[in-house]
Amino acid sequence: MIIELERGRQATLDQIRDLAARFGNRVEISEGTGVYDTVTIIGDSREFASRENYILGLPGVRAAWQATGGYKNIARVVRGPEGKALHRDRRVVEVKGLDGKARRFGGGKHIFVCGPDSPQTLDQTLATARMARAVGEKFGIVDRIMLRGGAFKPRTRPTDWRGLGMKGIAIMDAAREDTGLPYVTEVMDHNLVEQIGAHADMLQIGTRNAQNFDLLEAVGRFGKPAILKRGFGNEAEEWFYSAEYIANQGCLDIVLCERGMKTLYTKGGYCRNQPDLNACTHARKQTILPIIFDPSHVAGDHKIVAENLMAACGHLVDGSITETVHTEQFRREQLCDAGQALVMDTYSVLVEAVLEFEAHVLPRMQRILRELGSD
Ligand code: PEP
Ligand code: MN
Repeated sequence: MIIELERGRQATLDQIRDLAARFGNRVEISEGTGVYDTVTIIGDSREFASRENYILGLPGVRAAWQATGGYKNIARVVRGPEGKALHRDRRVVEVKGLDGKARRFGGGKHIFVCGPDSPQTLDQTLATARMARAVGEKFGIVDRIMLRGGAFKPRTRPTDWRGLGMKGIAIMDAAREDTGLPYVTEVMDHNLVEQIGAHADMLQIGTRNAQNFDLLEAVGRFGKPAILKRGFGNEAEEWFYSAEYIANQGCLDIVLCERGMKTLYTKGGYCRNQPDLNACTHARKQTILPIIFDPSHVAGDHKIVAENLMAACGHLVDGSITETVHTEQFRREQLCDAGQALVMDTYSVLVEAVLEFEAHVLPRMQRILRELGSD
């Protein structure tokens, strides 16, 4: 629900907040033009909206209307009756590290998430994490570096290695402790959200669980920032509705991640998944959420990770999540996704290329896009 409220009406705002809290909703306030602000009720606002008469009677309320259709909580433009429309700013999702720095997805600078597919040993994970920190220090972008590592692994074959579970989480904790960098890790089971979420800085919902609605809701209720990968067979709209499942629980700290689709054309073995870069642009225009790209699962082969990441930069993604390995030798010991991991030294060069793109090409590109009316 959207409420137009005279600026400076603190008492009314407090009453709206109280009512929202009673129904498990949060409020988002954006400065409107003129003397009115807009108060957006975040989450499933149906019960809140049933109190419309009460809300309309509060001092300073000019209008209150229900958004119609669609993924209301995450839409860039929220539409209502009689041609009403609220244009919302894109959202910044912050993930704080022990180093006190916030990684700001959607803050205008590419965020680099990197690390192993999975923590296998403390040594391997620490080595990768320290190298990630060193990359950040080398380019003066530590506040844009973050770790990844899945301790609970979804595997196609039941007999394949499925990660170290909570032991792997303890290794990720140690890597964070050592480097100060925050980490994201996958959660597959709604019953484990609280247990894993108590440790992780950010939760990942993998492609295979992109429409596991119980899991989406549990992550939304938990409230920590989340990366939502697109289901490998999902239409863009289905992906946005999955995000809406999280947002409907009151959590807007969602980062969308494009990681490629299974198509007719991926059968030849030249890439693992087909990237849908236009979906990144579509997501930027249709939703308020930051959008990142996973070049590793798209590629399936470390030799074509770089091209994919640079292509995604051309589509103005807000960041990337890349699987890395500390040494080429370790690749032979890696138990999941070994072929697609980029050696950290190479990753460092790729980071530099992205930074150069950002400094020299992006400003010109943005000028062109503005001219084309495509921001
Ligand atoms: C992963 O990040 O290791 C992973 C399993 O990703 P996806 O869900 O995109 O396959
Ligand atoms: Mn992987």
